[in-house]
Amino acid sequence: MFCVECGREGQIFRDGTCLSCYLKTHTFTKGPKIIELPNCPHCGSFKYKNTWLSEHFGDILRKLIKNNFQISKELENVDINSECREVKDGMSCKIYISGLIDSEKINEEHEILVRLERTVCDICSKRFGGYHEAIVQIRADHRKLTNNELKNIGTSIECLIEDLQAKGNRALFITDIAEEHGGLDFYISEKGAGLVIAKKIQEQYGGEIKQSSKNIGMKDGKQIYRMTYLIRLPSYEKGIFLKYNNSFYQIISFHGNKVKMIDLSKWNETTVDVKSIQKASTLGKEDLIKEMILISQKEDEVQVMDQKNYEIKVIRKPKPISFDSKTIKIVKLEDRLFLIPVV
Ligand SMILES: [Zn+2]
Ligand SMILES: [Zn+2]
Repeated sequence: MFCVECGREGQIFRDGTCLSCYLKTHTFTKGPKIIELPNCPHCGSFKYKNTWLSEHFGDILRKLIKNNFQISKELENVDINSECREVKDGMSCKIYISGLIDSEKINEEHEILVRLERTVCDICSKRFGGYHEAIVQIRADHRKLTNNELKNIGTSIECLIEDLQAKGNRALFITDIAEEHGGLDFYISEKGAGLVIAKKIQEQYGGEIKQSSKNIGMKDGKQIYRMTYLIRLPSYEKGIFLKYNNSFYQIISFHGNKVKMIDLSKWNETTVDVKSIQKASTLGKEDLIKEMILISQKEDEVQVMDQKNYEIKVIRKPKPISFDSKTIKIVKLEDRLFLIPVV
């Protein structure tokens, strides 16, 4: 058979012409030159079919193509690729659509402008309006939070929020963080997340959670409550030395209402209620720890030298372990010397 257009002999595709002649006057894909796409300048999310999505531009573009382009049903094994570059008012994209017609590969190319309209999204406008359903207040009993606690708690809460956001919760955000009365206040957009955060902090730092709620009005015929979760951290912080029942301890960690401590004379770990150490006397923080030069050691004792005054001391080993470092860490509590537990 001969193609009526080019006269070449071969397979006739349609209307008496070969495929390559047919393609000169027909296309299998059709789409607009310009697509408008609302884009939040604050969080970067895109509004697709009335819903804000925090997805990559590439993923949104695929959705836009599928929704805005007409792709002939005759085209099989359709594959869409794109190449985009930023331009003044959006993204200029080359769209490559390929597929099979009668097992012949067809490639079609379109150039489109995805015009990004700067629009503040639903969530960001809530955030700028100061919206919050929960306040997580962190305070310490009879003291201010230490700088380390302020820093570490802030970081753990921010990480936790990022984790929850990464799991797809767009509506979750921190509206505000305030340092108040030696503690921290976190304003959180969702009640549920507020409680999750409060429990996490309690798990890591110990203490108690108290909840209270406040009616803040009506929404869709329902009463809206704002929750406050107050976490009161123990009066002691991690690392502190204390005397309890005539023994000397260092606090290792807190877990809810329990505190894990190590007995410095035996290097035994013990867990007790935070309440039970409320009356113990605190002897100081980790800055009491000194490094001394190890001179010699026996099975049950070490001989060390103070680097400042060259005094030699003998300290009993809590356990038959052997040290292979040049210096070892010592703490002096009420005139007694203890070796700092080696973990
Ligand atoms: Zn032809
Ligand atoms: Zn936004």
